[in-house]
Amino acid sequence: MSDKPAATAQARNSRLKLIALAVLVIAMTLTVAGSLWLVQKKARQLALPTLHSELWQAYQIHMAMDRLLLASQDLLKGKLVPDDLVVRVQVLRSLTQPLEGQHLFDFLPESRPAAESTLQRVISLSRQWDEQAQWGDAAATRQVAEQAAESLPRLQKPMHEVMVATNISLANELDAERQHLYDYFTGLGWALLGLLIGVSLLVLRLVGNYREARELSRNLTELNQHLEQRVTERTAELAEGQALLKQILDASPSDVVLADSSGKQVYFVNQRLMQRLSLDQASDFSLNRLFCNAREALHFREALLARHRVDDWEGLLAGEPPYWGVVSGRLLEYRGGPAQLIWSYDISLRKGMEQELLVLATTDALTGLSNRHAFMQRAQELLKTAERFDQPCTLLMLDIDHFKQINDTHGHQIGDKVLATLGGLLKKELREVDIIGRLGGEEFAALLAQTDQIDAMQVAERLRASVEAMPLPRANGEQVRLTLSIGLASRHPAEPLEGALGRADAALYKAKSAGRNRVARATN
Ligand code: GH3
Ligand code: MG
Ligand code: MG
Repeated sequence: MSDKPAATAQARNSRLKLIALAVLVIAMTLTVAGSLWLVQKKARQLALPTLHSELWQAYQIHMAMDRLLLASQDLLKGKLVPDDLVVRVQVLRSLTQPLEGQHLFDFLPESRPAAESTLQRVISLSRQWDEQAQWGDAAATRQVAEQAAESLPRLQKPMHEVMVATNISLANELDAERQHLYDYFTGLGWALLGLLIGVSLLVLRLVGNYREARELSRNLTELNQHLEQRVTERTAELAEGQALLKQILDASPSDVVLADSSGKQVYFVNQRLMQRLSLDQASDFSLNRLFCNAREALHFREALLARHRVDDWEGLLAGEPPYWGVVSGRLLEYRGGPAQLIWSYDISLRKGMEQELLVLATTDALTGLSNRHAFMQRAQELLKTAERFDQPCTLLMLDIDHFKQINDTHGHQIGDKVLATLGGLLKKELREVDIIGRLGGEEFAALLAQTDQIDAMQVAERLRASVEAMPLPRANGEQVRLTLSIGLASRHPAEPLEGALGRADAALYKAKSAGRNRVARATN
C-alpha cells in the first residue's frame, strides 16, 4: 500500500522530465530558426553587388575631379563652351551627393582627420559649384572654372588619400561583417547541436516510456489474469463454503434464520424452522412468526439492534403447539450490508422439568398445599401488596386437635389420609387469592387476602365447623373424629410476617387452652 504514493510521484517526475525535454526541443528549434534567418539575411546583404560601393564612388569622384579640372582649364583657354563645364560640375555633384552624411571611415584602425576633411571639402565645393554653374550663365560658369582650376590641383593628392582610407575602412568593415557571419554560423551550429541533443534525448525518453508502458501493460495483463483466476477460485470456494454452511445449518439441531437487519430480506431459513413454522418459502419468515407474542418479537429486535448480540432469550415460540425456546441473535456483515443471524432451540422439556422441580420444591407432597418455605414466601408477598394498598389481611393458624391420638388409635396411614383430606377441604373452602400452607406435622396456616378480622372470624368459624362435620374414612369400623383449633391475627401496619405468625400462634394456644375445637383471635 505504501508503494502507491511513491509510484505516483515517480510517474509525475517522468511526465515533468518529458515536458521539460519537449520545451527544450521547441526552444532549440526556435533558436535554430532565428539563427538561420539571421545568417540568411546577413549572407544576402553580403551578396548584394551594390553594397559597399564607396571605394568605387571615391574613385569616380577622383576621376570626375580630374575631368572637371581639364574642362576648367580648357574653358579658361576658350577651348570649351561654358555649358560643357556645367555638365562636368553636375556629374561631380551627382557623385558627391550620395556620400553626404555617410560614414566612410568608421572602420579605420586609427582616425584620419585629413581624409575626412578632404572629402567634406570636395563635397561642399561640388555643392557650391553646382549651385553656381547654371545653364546659359557663362559668367558664373567661368567663375566656377576659375575656382576649380585654382583649388582642384591641390585636392588631387589628398583625394587619393581619401581613396586609400576608404579602401582600408571598407576592407575592415567587410572583415567585421564576415566575422559576424562566422559568429552567426557558429551560433547556428551550437543551436543545431543543442537541437540534435534535445531531439535525441526526447526520442530516447519516448522510447523508454514506450518500453515502460509496454512492460506495465504486460504486467497489468498478467495481474488481471491472476486476479481473474483468483476470483474464479474464490468464487468456487465461496460457493462450496456456502453449500457446506447451508448443509451444516440444515443439519443443525437449532432453528436458524439469516436475514438483513430490517428483516425484510430473508437470505436463509433452515429446514427445521421451515417445517416448524409451516413456511412455504424462506421469504415468509418474520420475527413475528417466530415469537408467539408480537411485543416480545419487537423487544427482541430492539435488544439485538442496540447490543448487536442477544444470548439465551427465553420466550414462548410459535409452533404447533407453541413451545418454550431459547433465542440468540447476532448482527453481522453479509453481502456488504448489516444482517441478523438468529437461532433458537426448543427447551420445553427443560422448562417442564424446571416446572416439576419448582412444584416439588414448593409443594407439600401429602396435602398438595404449599410447604412451609413456599407459604412463607407467598405470604410475605401478599403482605407487601396489602401494605402497599393499605388493605386488610388476616392470618389463620390451624392445628388438629389431639392428632397424636388419631395416629395412635387408627394408625399413621389413616393419620396421613386425614391430613390429605383436610388439605383438600382447606383448598375447597378458601379462595384462590388466599394462601394456604402446611407448616409442619398437623399444623396449617392460611393468609386471607383483603379480609379484616370480623370476616376472618366468620371464615375461621366456617372452616372449624366444616372440619368437624367432614366425613372421614372409617378405620377399624370406627368413625374417625376430627376437630380443629384456629388462632387468628389480622395484619398490623408494617408488621413482618413473623410478628403476625407469633400473634396467631398465641391465639391458637388460647383456643387450645380454652378446650380446643374453637377459634380465638389475637388480643394485641
Ligand atoms: P393438641 O391437641 O395439643 O394439638 O395435641 P396433638 O396430639 O394434636 O399434638 P401433638 O404435638 O402432641 O402431636 C402431634 C402429632 O402429629 C405427633 C405426630 O406423630 C403427628 N404427626 C406429625 N406429622 C405427621 C404426619 O405427617 N403424619 C401423621 N400420620 N402424623 C403426623
Ligand atoms: Mg395438634
Ligand atoms: Mg401441633
